[in-house]
Amino acid sequence: MAAEEREKPRRLAIIDRAGCIGCEQCAAACPVGAIGMDADSVAVVDAEECIGCKKCVLVCPTYAITMSDGPEEVEATASAAESERAGEGRGREVWVFVEHTQGQPAVVSWELLGKGRELAGDLGGRVCSVILGDRVGHLVKESFAYGADKAYLIEDAALSHYRTGPYLHGMARLVREHEPEVVLLGATTMGRDLAGAVATSVETGLTADCTGLSVDPETKLLEQTRPAYGGNIMATILCERRRPQMATVRPRVMEMPMRDGSRRGEIVRESLGLSETEAAVRIVEYAREAAGEGARIEDADILVSGGRGIGGSEGLEMLRELAEVIGGRVSSSRAVVDQGWIGHERQVGQTGKTVRPKLYIACGISGAVQHLVGMETSDIIVAINRDPQAPIFGVADYGIVGDVNEIVPALTRACRARLASGGEEGDGWGVAAGEGE
Ligand SMILES: Cc1cc2nc3c(=O)[nH]c(=O)nc-3n(C[C@H](O)[C@H](O)[C@H](O)COP(=O)(O)OP(=O)(O)OC[C@H]3O[C@@H](n4cnc5c(N)ncnc54)[C@H](O)[C@@H]3O)c2cc1C
Repeated sequence: MAAEEREKPRRLAIIDRAGCIGCEQCAAACPVGAIGMDADSVAVVDAEECIGCKKCVLVCPTYAITMSDGPEEVEATASAAESERAGEGRGREVWVFVEHTQGQPAVVSWELLGKGRELAGDLGGRVCSVILGDRVGHLVKESFAYGADKAYLIEDAALSHYRTGPYLHGMARLVREHEPEVVLLGATTMGRDLAGAVATSVETGLTADCTGLSVDPETKLLEQTRPAYGGNIMATILCERRRPQMATVRPRVMEMPMRDGSRRGEIVRESLGLSETEAAVRIVEYAREAAGEGARIEDADILVSGGRGIGGSEGLEMLRELAEVIGGRVSSSRAVVDQGWIGHERQVGQTGKTVRPKLYIACGISGAVQHLVGMETSDIIVAINRDPQAPIFGVADYGIVGDVNEIVPALTRACRARLASGGEEGDGWGVAAGEGE
């Protein structure tokens, strides 16, 4: 009996319109002239002509071309592209990595979801959370509450504690599979480690420590702004040819979005695809280091910050006193750290921490740009400096020109007196500053 003759499905090139950058390299590489450019400068494949040779796939710098099984799929892709242009397709996803320590989320993840939502709106796409861990389902709901439309979730015992290998494996696998447009991570110890590893693995660019993110309305590229050349200029960096566009942002740089517990979203569960025995590092013991009391300046609502103008380590005493009376913590400029008057964990600025307290009192700080990038988004800034031309006054809401050695003790006395007359510790200061006492 003659064998039944079946037509082998013909493989055709499929263009991912969102990934195409219009470089025309695929058109040049096609031996049968089956690829042209449409009116939007996006490559289009003539399904009748394509011979499925894959030459276009190999030359595409943004990996925007894959192979399909036949003309039907080409049509499906074309109509998907149409609906994407009409705003109803899968769109361009903005991913936010949800950092946590054994299920305890890092606030920067929610701050990034707030920003991610804004970017996704500008891209006509969706903001998605990416959650890796062991028994971390509660973070999915929480990410919806902070704005995620969709959550990618990998739960595996190998992810119970952060290790670069398994987290990189999971994250890179998700990126390759789902092709997000943008991936954001916190510029924390974990986020910095993971972001660099993922960007290297998926061969894309990464902008670290961004202080601003926006979408170019024309090109739809992510504009990633960060200080450069020692903080003397702000550079806007683009990742034109590779996807995803990846950036890290420090905690407290982006605004915390409102929480809405009633929000729901879509969940995509994936497996890690890596067994514990394949992990290069094994955790033998996990110990949490006790943070020095009051050292976490990034969490403080009120910061009394000292600069070189306080004159010496003894000058810190008056700052501590004021901080204690108004319920704040002491931070500093780098000059104070360099002098050895205080530890580096208290340094605010480009090479220190980014803070966003409700009240920042800068005492004897000149306001160098490297300092400003770490504190200028504070709600209220009070500057005390004897030089009326000091740049710190350019960002201050309230400026006091004078000697810190006289003004700080006077403020402490005034606040103490106000508290003694009935105000509560910590709430008296806002009134004192606001009324210029
Ligand atoms: C790559 C790089 C990264 C950096 N990162 C950081 C960073 O993370 N954080 C940071 O802070 N800096 C950083 N710097 C250093 C920064 O450029 C400044 O040198 C530093 O911020 C200055 O600290 P300051 O304002 O305390 O000191 P100064 O610039 O010396 O200012 C002291 C101020 O105190 C005032 N003053 C003096 N005496 C009194 C008084 N009795 N009463 C009132 N006012 C008085 C003076 O008028 C002056 O304005 C960085 C620099 C570089 C190149």
